[in-house]
Amino acid sequence: QSRLLFPLTSLMRVALDLQTSSALFARIFEYLDLKPAITESPDAIAVEQALGPLGSVRFEDVTFRYPDAAAETRPTLDAVSFTIAPGQFAAFVGPSGAGKTTVSYLVPRLYDASEGRVLFAGEDVKNLTQSSLISHIGIVSQETYLFHATIAENLRYAKPEATDAELEAAARSANIHDTIASFPDGYATVVGERGYRLSGGEKQRIAIARVLLKDPAVIVLDEATSALDTLSERVVQRALDAAAEGRTTIAIAHRLSTIVDADVIFVVDGGRIVESGTHAELLTSGGVYSRMHHDQVAGHS
Ligand code: ADP
Ligand code: MG
Repeated sequence: QSRLLFPLTSLMRVALDLQTSSALFARIFEYLDLKPAITESPDAIAVEQALGPLGSVRFEDVTFRYPDAAAETRPTLDAVSFTIAPGQFAAFVGPSGAGKTTVSYLVPRLYDASEGRVLFAGEDVKNLTQSSLISHIGIVSQETYLFHATIAENLRYAKPEATDAELEAAARSANIHDTIASFPDGYATVVGERGYRLSGGEKQRIAIARVLLKDPAVIVLDEATSALDTLSERVVQRALDAAAEGRTTIAIAHRLSTIVDADVIFVVDGGRIVESGTHAELLTSGGVYSRMHHDQVAGHS
């Protein structure tokens, strides 16, 4: 029985740590539980032992096909290379299906690169322990999965030993404390399936509070506000700005207005990085990005 319990517990941690949508959550369960798509090297080291700076993320000529993709099809990622330095705000933009989310999956090693290398803190992720890698990465995606449990319990998944004061501080930074405090049961309010119905913006701010509690070196924001109305988008965006402060941020952006201040913007199309630079540089060069920007400004989308 205890042999069953352990993998389940570690799976829970992986899934919870990724703060992911229920679809991805299900897939993590599948592949770790049944057929691991990745295997941890017996010589794997903790991220803390890696020689490069914590918070750096680098792709070297990464080509990737999903395990179920037909061999003759074009790879989902095709020779992708980039380097993000600790503390930088990097944005990935491009059309739907370009491969942006896939890039973010390879950082916590949900899948392995088919060719090339993914480096975290200067070390190939294949040489790092999965638990330490995941402990340094926080994700806020389009849709947040909350467990049928209290808000306090949902927050503590990120840091089981967190004190009430820590929960509240994280919730305040994520702009959600006042909302939680206004519920009759406060932090003891049961949410998730069959629980108290939170709005999309409230759920996203709880996801951000989780990330703040976890305090990872790297955060991935995958279209974290794209499902929200304009008003809650603004509130959530402020919380995201607080979360990005002082850590490496990989922001996959739907609306270009949220990434104009990025240190670097990567434009992804058809699995390749077709342009990169700052907002100003990309506008000046008059390529794909400048057209995307022109279309969004013109269309107010
Ligand atoms: P983006 O985030 O830029 O919209 P994705 O990274 O989600 O793009 O998807 C890139 C491509 O990979 C798409 O063609 C998509 O259909 C495919 N894809 C995404 N997830 C999977 C998966 N789990 N298995 C097979 N193909 C996938
Ligand atoms: Mg995506």
